[in-house]
Amino acid sequence: MKDEIERIALMEGASKVGIASVESFAGAPNGHAPADFIPDAKSVISFGIGLLDAAVERDRLFLNSQMVPEELRTTVQEYLYETVAYRMVNSRLDQIGLSIALFFEKQGYPSMCFPATYDEQYEPLMSKIPNFQAPFSHRHAAVRAGLGEFGLSNLVLTPEYGPRIRLNSVITSMQLEPGPIIREKLCIRGCTLCMEACASCAYNSSINILTPKENLNWNEIWLDPPSITDKHVCNSGRCAGGCVRACPVGSKRNT
Ligand code: SF4
Ligand code: SF4
Repeated sequence: MKDEIERIALMEGASKVGIASVESFAGAPNGHAPADFIPDAKSVISFGIGLLDAAVERDRLFLNSQMVPEELRTTVQEYLYETVAYRMVNSRLDQIGLSIALFFEKQGYPSMCFPATYDEQYEPLMSKIPNFQAPFSHRHAAVRAGLGEFGLSNLVLTPEYGPRIRLNSVITSMQLEPGPIIREKLCIRGCTLCMEACASCAYNSSINILTPKENLNWNEIWLDPPSITDKHVCNSGRCAGGCVRACPVGSKRNT
């Protein structure tokens, strides 16, 4: 069955798939653990789609364009990133989640899928919920399913794509064998490139957005976010993810 789930996800465009046990979510916020969605939940399937490098490294685009004037170059670069590396990927992730959940349901196992991200329809709610968070954390699921490790940026780093991957999850009552969590640390000791990128962003320059938690142990694998993030600023979408582009893990920038 595990192979079949992988086959469905990969065939529909996922780059990585893994399985986490429900027990590994101990400590999740009340109302947001797998059993809060599916009372008899047994497994969580995590999957992600790696982003196209050309879209992530968008500042290389249109440098010699005959059509795009210099003053509009960033806007056009951002437009391509937004569509190719965000909306298209999220839409595909939504479809993969639905396919997997429906597959389980057909076998008689209640399941739940989610949107990969929370869009304009959810945004009005966010401002009304103090300290809002996603209804279910795809990042925590990915780490528990062995797809990667939390980086100092609080993004999930994967060996193949670093943080240049988008994620989604499905909760099911089917018992599946969980994969091992990642064995080797991915976030590079002493590296603070994500923090520097965030701090040098013109929009963010006066706000402390990423703050490493006190007494952070750099030698252990981070299964939970190692930093405190100002989520409202990140979610404003105005910084264009400097922390993603700066991370050397899984980057093909120099190859
Ligand atoms: S998404 Fe932007 S604001 Fe948030 S941590 Fe990354 S660089 Fe900073
Ligand atoms: S930029 Fe460096 S510190 Fe930040 S997540 Fe990547 S490897 Fe870790």
